[in-house]
Amino acid sequence: MNIPFENFTSFRSGQEETIIAIRESKAKYVIVNAPTGTGKTILGMMSSIGHKSVYTVSTKILQDQIAQDFPEAVVLKGRSNYPCPRYRHILHFGKPAMADSCSKKGCAYLLDSDCQYENTKLSALRSPYRTLNLSYLLTEANGPGGFSNQELVILDEADNVEQELVGYISLELGKRDKELLGSYNLSEPEYLSKQETWKPWSEELLLILIPEGEKLENLGNNPPEYLISLKKQVKRLVSKLIMLRDCSDSTWIRYEIEGKTVYKPTWLTPILSERFLFRHGKKFVLLSATFPEIGTYCRMLGIPESDAEVIELPCTFPIENRRIVFDLDSAVDMAYKTQDIDGLLKQVKIILSRHKSDKGVIHTTSYRLKDAVMSLGDKRLTTHAVSDREAVIEAFKRSERPLVLVSPSVERGINLPDDLCRFQIIAKVPYQSTQDRVVSARLYGSKFGQQWYQADAAQRIVQMAGRGVRHGTDTCVTYILDSQFKKLYVQPRLFPKWFLEAVDIGDV
Ligand code: SF4
Repeated sequence: MNIPFENFTSFRSGQEETIIAIRESKAKYVIVNAPTGTGKTILGMMSSIGHKSVYTVSTKILQDQIAQDFPEAVVLKGRSNYPCPRYRHILHFGKPAMADSCSKKGCAYLLDSDCQYENTKLSALRSPYRTLNLSYLLTEANGPGGFSNQELVILDEADNVEQELVGYISLELGKRDKELLGSYNLSEPEYLSKQETWKPWSEELLLILIPEGEKLENLGNNPPEYLISLKKQVKRLVSKLIMLRDCSDSTWIRYEIEGKTVYKPTWLTPILSERFLFRHGKKFVLLSATFPEIGTYCRMLGIPESDAEVIELPCTFPIENRRIVFDLDSAVDMAYKTQDIDGLLKQVKIILSRHKSDKGVIHTTSYRLKDAVMSLGDKRLTTHAVSDREAVIEAFKRSERPLVLVSPSVERGINLPDDLCRFQIIAKVPYQSTQDRVVSARLYGSKFGQQWYQADAAQRIVQMAGRGVRHGTDTCVTYILDSQFKKLYVQPRLFPKWFLEAVDIGDV
């Protein structure tokens, strides 16, 4: 098989066979469980050759990474990443307006092919290889229609697809939105909890907002900043209200969080996922290093398991480099009502003294437990709040000292190769909080909820364990201290084989 990408001259072991299997699969959904080190991007890119296709990821960082590795692919980001030459003189929230403030009608820059966003989009539409982020694909394919009707859609980081899709469909009303609706005397429905009132309310709003949006269509060359804001706000509300009007049913929930009101589906249904994502392609390749259990995953995405083929790749990293240590004798009970914090801290101290010269991470799941671990007073421990998370992580990486990062939120999106992390502690099984409205609606609203809850926690454990082992000669041991892990461990279907083979029921 020829490789048309200049940075790749040969395949790693197993890659060519996997690419052939993906290409030959007749399934609509090909789910490829590809642990770190298997090179999943090249699997996706090679699978797309000869097909009208798009490759999607969920972060800009990954888009940049792909741009570096695959210069043949056109990377197209969301509009807010490109300057708008027409409105660059207008300060929008203190910065020059970007292409998400676009008012195309009568734009001379567009006519002169001088708009960077439009030019990049055109190149992407014409290129055989294009990389988008998933939220952009959803907006484009369901809006103007660009990038719809694909032969193949590759969804990288596909463990995130459900969250992205639910987020795309949900309506969030912030303070500014509520003020706008109030100005039309159209605040929220009278009986808020009654879903039947949402549709007539959204219909009423749309009758006002759609003509408002049309009036704002052409803003000319020098609009006041507030009109740019209003146009964006109305456009967003119209698209979300249409989804609420057309799709909400008794399984949707409404709740308040941090001053916002959220309307969202508890689960994706087959109708929702087909309408907003899966109708845009004939075949989908879903790539991830950490899928939840596959039956649960298909149900979460609203796709029939019978239409899915699963390709599970082995982990190429030696088992001894990625050990997961779980000792039932010394494990502590961290169940919500019977938490043994003293027992936990005792075990943490033992492990810290064993790894005196090593950097490490302690995953605490909650800020409350993070504070308990920090109360040990060990000078190697470093932690963060929500606001300084990035800065603390960067300082941790740069430090020459054997620091230990204590965090409830580094289970994904952070790579700590080699000496940046030689050991990890999972202090508590990362079940999601039942205080969260969506979590409780899922967990207590259907039998499937319990299955999802456990699969989600197992998936998070696999993600945590992956932070410290990033290549074949990297080593990092992960200690799981919570005896609740046993409830998951005895259900092997919840974990990939390559994870289970590294679990070592030994002395902590
Ligand atoms: S088409 Fe014109 S208004 Fe729209 S982003 Fe480009 S330059 Fe700005």
